[in-house]
Amino acid sequence: MVNAIPSVIFITFCALPIALHYFINRKYKKLLANLNLKDEDYYHQCLFIDMKNFKCKQHLINKDECCDHCSYNHLKTLINFISSAKLSICLCMYTLTLKQINVELIKAHKRGVNLRIITDQVMLRTETAKFNFAKLKDNGIPFKVQPSDHSMMHHKFCLIDKDDKSSAKMFFGTMNLTGQGLVSNFENVILTNNRNMIERFSQEFEELWGDF
Ligand SMILES: [Zn+2]
Repeated sequence: MVNAIPSVIFITFCALPIALHYFINRKYKKLLANLNLKDEDYYHQCLFIDMKNFKCKQHLINKDECCDHCSYNHLKTLINFISSAKLSICLCMYTLTLKQINVELIKAHKRGVNLRIITDQVMLRTETAKFNFAKLKDNGIPFKVQPSDHSMMHHKFCLIDKDDKSSAKMFFGTMNLTGQGLVSNFENVILTNNRNMIERFSQEFEELWGDF
């Protein structure tokens, strides 16, 4: 019995902690990796459109911001987001009528960014969307719509450089890329580089792109 004491001490204080450490690391590797991510590794920015923006229509036209949350500032934020793309843009948007965004998408395509767009087939029949998408098509930018118009393709999200861990980012929210969304509705847009969200939205985009 006395001879067994050193063995018990060894198992309790040395072998058991090592074995537990190995087991936990192996079983919960991904979870631990996420826990190790610091808050400062991720950012998010929330844009809100509310009654303060209802007077901003002219500010979009004049390119003149009235305050920090002016619709023109929000538009510039979204334009900068798109213009920062180096590798890819995956845009899934119920409707897109903002000329300024269209111009940025065409510029991105021309500098070699791999651009794919999914939109709604009913909204695509509206005059401004039809005009914008004709321009995208003329520039060789691929886009798809859902196979049937019985359901709306109602998503609003955009993935930038999704496969590059250092520069991947995305925005999503309630707002369509339209003038009405920027100045006439109550809307939100969230911009983030959260890796887990980007991966999940990316899976969904690829699934839709394959299905459509
Ligand atoms: Zn304004």
